[in-house]
Amino acid sequence: MDCVFCKIINKEIPAYIVYEDDDFLAFLDVRPLNPGHTLVVPKKHYRWVWDVKNIGKYYEIVAKIARAVKKALETDHVVSLVFGEEVSHAHVWLVPRYDDDGHGGVIDLENIKNINEEEMTNIAQKIKNSLTK
Ligand SMILES: [Zn+2]
Repeated sequence: MDCVFCKIINKEIPAYIVYEDDDFLAFLDVRPLNPGHTLVVPKKHYRWVWDVKNIGKYYEIVAKIARAVKKALETDHVVSLVFGEEVSHAHVWLVPRYDDDGHGGVIDLENIKNINEEEMTNIAQKIKNSLTK
């Protein structure tokens, strides 16, 4: 199956992974709308988030990652977006916001930030370190 998220899950494509358990994976978006923009996905390929069998557990993980992103990126403002259109594998976006992030009142999907590899690695590590058990 030609699914980029399945390839990341199977470690065929490298990613800045911030969280992994038996059923879920979280990693930094390579086209970030802000530093710390994270995707949370089920490891099994589901088309839509509401197809995910253990959706309650899924959202517990999303909340856990959101708290870690808040802490790591030092902001109380984290927006979540669920479009399901860019990649046909269920995913939730978590995007930290800042007063001066250039997005305005509502996040601008065209405003993709250019973040170098070193910084991405650093951000991923910070989120990992901010995860509470
Ligand atoms: Zn997939």
